[in-house]
Amino acid sequence: MKLHEYQAKEVLASYGVPVPEGRVTHFPYDAWMVSMELGLPVVLKAQVLTGGRGKAGGVKLAKTSDEARDIAQELFGKKLVTKQTGSQGFTIRKLLVEKAADIDRELYFSIVVDRTTSRPTVIASKRGGMSIEEVAEKYPEDIIKIPIDPAAGFLPYQIRRLKYDLELTAQEKEAAKIFAALYKAFYEKDCTLLELNPLVVLKSGHLLAVDAKMDIDENALYRRKDISKMRDLTESDPDELEARFTGLNFIKLPGNIGCMVNGAGLAMTTMDVIKLAGGEPANFLDVGGEATPETISKGFEIITRDPKVKAIFINIFGGIVRCDKVANGIIQALKTVKVKIPVVIRLTGMNKEEGMEILKKAPMKFYIAQDLRDAAEMVSELSNDKHSATEKKSTEKENTKAEKKEK
Ligand code: GDP
Ligand code: MN
Repeated sequence: MKLHEYQAKEVLASYGVPVPEGRVTHFPYDAWMVSMELGLPVVLKAQVLTGGRGKAGGVKLAKTSDEARDIAQELFGKKLVTKQTGSQGFTIRKLLVEKAADIDRELYFSIVVDRTTSRPTVIASKRGGMSIEEVAEKYPEDIIKIPIDPAAGFLPYQIRRLKYDLELTAQEKEAAKIFAALYKAFYEKDCTLLELNPLVVLKSGHLLAVDAKMDIDENALYRRKDISKMRDLTESDPDELEARFTGLNFIKLPGNIGCMVNGAGLAMTTMDVIKLAGGEPANFLDVGGEATPETISKGFEIITRDPKVKAIFINIFGGIVRCDKVANGIIQALKTVKVKIPVVIRLTGMNKEEGMEILKKAPMKFYIAQDLRDAAEMVSELSNDKHSATEKKSTEKENTKAEKKEK
């Protein structure tokens, strides 16, 4: 889960990391007031869950309160498209207004979890302000990497070395305190990323975290209630939110094959085999180990709401749940949710034969696949446009026929 900059700064401030004075605003008049309160000049910063805002026009300096109000007027409701967002961008709904910092030098500081060493790793550079990817490309010698043993923590000798490399000898005590506090925050809040770009040296010689980015491990949120309540629901996809509230694990993807799978591992495999068969998944959906008629219905509802989905692939493993129960669940779900696109089903595991029999006798038409590869090829074929035009008609016809028969 990503925190907004202002939220990350709140967390860091509680650890004693110096951050600029500021307030979140929602209206131009707010921005005018806050700039008066803080004193000028101020910076106005778009609070959207992405980086690269400065270059995209999402970070602006105002010398007067009227200017602050005018900038806010222009930014509220605007779509900010940055290098990291893709073309759809993010709508600006909140602006952080902060007292502008009098910057002497910009540094880069981050802590990430390095998967190859399985350790938190501090990455720092005296070339802050630009993206770390750009520093890595142009000045690889200026990147400092310090792996941390989580059992020992960020040790004093490592902190000393960092201060030396970042030329912070004049900020001796202050820098040591800040680096230790940053690691503590990273560790105690279960971050997967903590990034200050820039961490600045002010003209006064003091340090200040001018920007902050914090990503929290979703799997740790259950024990970080203070953090999980910071989630900005307005920034989430409504379908993904609805899925989460019903206990489904759903993520939208750019393709056109809707997937309904039980178990995250099988869901990943399913996407892989679809890709191998030349198809493109439209979503990742894990209905949970126990695929019930309710979760299956909800899955159908959410998948079919997306107009780009041309075929659905149901791939269920009867481990916790029996295949015959799943087959009945699918039929029951399809009675409530009308699905007008082809549905390919592959069932395996406990009571597979019974499940297949139930599907064959069902009043709707499905494509029943024998194995995973078979299924992936079938659904990829059905999802391409040429096929779906004729296919759709015949499926619709059969389904109406089936409905009539039932009545
Ligand atoms: P990002 O582009 O999304 O990473 O947003 P940042 O908060 O990092 O802002 C981008 C750049 O704007 C920084 O690298 C600074 O150069 C500049 N900037 C941000 N805040 C201030 C400030 O208070 N004073 C000054 N002088 N520059 C600032
Ligand atoms: Mn930044």
